[in-house]
Amino acid sequence: VVCVAQDFDFFYFVQQWPGSYCDTKTSCCYPTSGKPAADFGIHGLWPNNNDGSYPSNCDSNNAFQQSQISDLRSSLQSNWATLACPSGNGIEFWSHEWEKHGTCSESILNQHEYFQTALNLKQRANILKALRNAGIVPSNGKAYSLSSIKGAIQQGLGYTPYIDCNVDSSGNTQLYQVYLCVDTSASAFIQCPVFPNGKCASQIVFPPF
Ligand code: 5GP
Ligand code: 5GP
Ligand code: 5GP
Repeated sequence: VVCVAQDFDFFYFVQQWPGSYCDTKTSCCYPTSGKPAADFGIHGLWPNNNDGSYPSNCDSNNAFQQSQISDLRSSLQSNWATLACPSGNGIEFWSHEWEKHGTCSESILNQHEYFQTALNLKQRANILKALRNAGIVPSNGKAYSLSSIKGAIQQGLGYTPYIDCNVDSSGNTQLYQVYLCVDTSASAFIQCPVFPNGKCASQIVFPPF
């Protein structure tokens, strides 16, 4: 029996809403490739343990290499856009995610597979559409209940997400990130074994981007 060390229990697949990244006090910078589409973008694919802990920076000998993802670059620019300041082309963000998280699943996914898998997962998890189908659309004035947002995503995708909130520059709590869970082979969404700890309000804003 060949046994490959795999010291985590599942992945969090985390997507971010650009409207909520950008309307905070710190604001954002559009990537050098231009303003991203008004859609959720990938933040990361993160190995995690059932007890809530997680490994990080697992292999300093497996640094990110642009040459490994050259065929994915334009898809990454569209679907895994960087919004941090100063404006970047994405390499810093992808490299950070690979080195911090991706190296912890390197026995399952090499660099190319890691990014390709995340892109595939995003295609299969259309959060914006699930929300829209439930009448939940970006709006400046309106607040939605956390439970209606979770319910819409459960209805659309079949799995209950964890919602991560942040606060805009006026102090409103808003929908920032959506966590879904994926099995250790990175092939199927699963019901989350554990949710992170964090606070939202019971009514939250979904701001336009
Ligand atoms: P924050 O403290 O802003 O929520 O998270 C900072 C960073 O820590 C995240 O971007 C991610 O890299 C990592 N992180 C935070 N929470 C989790 C978690 O529950 N699981 C994993 N695997 N990483 C996390
Ligand atoms: P994590 O929170 O995953 O550990 O780290 C995210 C890192 O990537 C931070 O250093 C952050 O500045 C950088 N980064 C670059 N672009 C983005 C982005 O669009 N969203 C987030 N959350 N972080 C970004
Ligand atoms: P319940 O288990 O009744 O759905 O939620 C218990 C508590 O956890 C409530 O305070 C609720 O606001 C919070 N909560 C439930 N789901 C989420 C979520 O996806 N994200 C965050 N941040 N809090 C949640």
